Amino acid sequence: MSLSCFDFADQKPQLTLEEAQQALLETATQITPAIKRSLQEAQGLFLAENIQAPIQVPQNTNSAMDGYALKGSELTQLKSWHLAGESLAGRGFNQTLQAGECIYITTGAPLPEGADTVVMMEQARREGDQVFFELGDKPPKIGSNVRQAGEDIQEGQLLLHPGQCLGSTELGLLASLGFSEVEVHQPLRVAIFSTGDEVTAPGLPLPAAGIYDANRFSVQGMLQGLGCQVTDLGILPDDLNAITSALRKASRDHQLILTSGGVSVGDADFVKQALVDLGETRFWRLAIRPGRPFAFGHLGQNQQGSTCLFAGLPGNPVAAMVTFMLLVQPLIKKLQGGYQNLTATWTAQTEEPLKSRLGRSDFHRGIYQVNPEGQLEVHTTGAQGSGILTSMHQANCLIRIPDHQTEIPAGDPVSIYPFHLWLAE
Ligand code: AMP
Ligand code: MG
Repeated sequence: MSLSCFDFADQKPQLTLEEAQQALLETATQITPAIKRSLQEAQGLFLAENIQAPIQVPQNTNSAMDGYALKGSELTQLKSWHLAGESLAGRGFNQTLQAGECIYITTGAPLPEGADTVVMMEQARREGDQVFFELGDKPPKIGSNVRQAGEDIQEGQLLLHPGQCLGSTELGLLASLGFSEVEVHQPLRVAIFSTGDEVTAPGLPLPAAGIYDANRFSVQGMLQGLGCQVTDLGILPDDLNAITSALRKASRDHQLILTSGGVSVGDADFVKQALVDLGETRFWRLAIRPGRPFAFGHLGQNQQGSTCLFAGLPGNPVAAMVTFMLLVQPLIKKLQGGYQNLTATWTAQTEEPLKSRLGRSDFHRGIYQVNPEGQLEVHTTGAQGSGILTSMHQANCLIRIPDHQTEIPAGDPVSIYPFHLWLAE
């Protein structure tokens, strides 16, 4: 792996978001292996095989209503029908329907040979084994209230591809085809910890100069949303030995370590110093806000003989979430065999003027909505400090003011990054 082309120490210019994303994705060469998982344990994981339908769905031509099945062309010819039997869901009528015959049928039950139309219960009157229909001046068309065999899925149809994330719809679809297990990519083993003497675990009293640890929980939530197997290693003090030994230990049985805090320029630099001894890590100046600083690299070899990747997120809670979302999340998806979503942006009209610095992309937290004219518009959540976590909580997207723009007047189009496409939670 070579990270040197983006070396902060080389005094290279700042990396744009796209350069940083590409550099991260290029390091993702060790995709987690495919494993069989039961459907119950596959949610959120990425498919490692093509899924072809082994059966057609629905299996049989069947009724969409409770009613009477008959030959549709007879509806304009006859006045009454002989009731020949019934077809219930799970128990069909196994004879061929003869001229002038109908059967009682329930929703989902197979249509017998000779029938092609169902008249609903509400339009039928039964006298002994004779059935009459009150159809008004609009008799049902031939084929009414019938679902054709294979109308949803044909046998052999290719339905899902490798890289597809298995959500509730996909799990239901797989089950509807009879699959009880699928091949997915193994979840990535990720260790997380927070750093900083002031950072305090929730549940403990808050010291006078303390701040509660937000990052371990937001990061854990985002990792679990990506299906990762997370080890929470707690909070590390600003102490070189403690950080070095925790990183070394975690690198043995994890494929990725994520820390937050301790990587900023002028910081006490303990994470940085520890990383120098353990592997190859670069401290990037990203041309995004929030997002500076960000560290990325790898730490020696783990027990499986592969390198353990390392990403050092900024300490400020919004910056930690934004860098995770824009940089770490695409990397993890790739490592777990998933599709990328780097271009998942929408365009909305900004309701307010926006400002940024030339050569830097600012990501404001925003709320998009459809206005009464049916257009997508967006406004910011107010104060945008990178420690103001309520700005993330209120938002449903990030608004990007791109590198080449310093001002965007109200009413102009802007790119937005909807959280539902970018933030796995
Ligand atoms: P650092 O990058 O360590 O200089 O931290 C930047 C800012 O983020 C400081 O104000 C820290 O107190 C704060 N911070 C660092 N880690 C966390 C955390 N886990 N939760 C909340 N705030 C944090
Ligand atoms: Mg710190």
